Amino acid sequence: MKKITIAIDGFSSCGKSTMAKDLAREIGYIYIDSGAMYRAVTLFCIENGLFNGKEVNTERLKEEINHIRVSFLLDPTTGRPRTQLNGKDVEDRIRTMEVSSRVSIIAAIDFVREYLVAQQQEMGRTKGIVMDGRDIGTTVFPDAELKIFVTASAEIRAERRYKELQEKGEKANFDEILANVKERDHIDQTRAVSPLRRAEDALLLDNSQLTIAEQKAWLIEQFRKATEE
Ligand code: C5P
Repeated sequence: MKKITIAIDGFSSCGKSTMAKDLAREIGYIYIDSGAMYRAVTLFCIENGLFNGKEVNTERLKEEINHIRVSFLLDPTTGRPRTQLNGKDVEDRIRTMEVSSRVSIIAAIDFVREYLVAQQQEMGRTKGIVMDGRDIGTTVFPDAELKIFVTASAEIRAERRYKELQEKGEKANFDEILANVKERDHIDQTRAVSPLRRAEDALLLDNSQLTIAEQKAWLIEQFRKATEE
């Protein structure tokens, strides 16, 4: 069967990553979480003192960007990829609220996007890839054979994030998370470079009321149709 490219875009915390990961495993494709790449660059900026409050020192980041290497290593026990920043495992550290509250600022910088988009395109050169993010169907892989745009209400997304953090034993405050979800939606949709928007040829999936199993069945069906065409 010919391999295709699958682009999954949408709002933050709407379960894109879980969905994309499960789909990739089911169909034997590579999975890339592009958000993790923006998160890793954000962590680099935090750890190297490039932030002053919510302001980032873009001059210094420009000098450093070519030394920031983001890659993924498969965890042999879970079969899931773990994000590496300059060879160090940062998978847990990039998921904290500290990174979540700053990542949209980093993702709005043009040279950061250029740098990461070029790497993402290289990863997908031979197809057989599921990539999730905000601009995969519009900018990274505009020719993807299957594009999905996922959405759910901000409250439902905040609730999911809240549970996720609680399960990990991290401090979580629902109102703070909801405010963060809304703030990121706003920054992602209104930024000048590659704003979050649905590609014209993307299928819309509102998963507010869907179970994981229903969503999975729907995805597999779309994959089957896309590979038959
Ligand atoms: O998907 P996730 O929520 O982990 O992404 C973190 C942030 O990275 C998003 O809020 C968005 O600002 C940014 N992002 C992006 N383009 C992508 C993926 C993520 O701008 N392709």
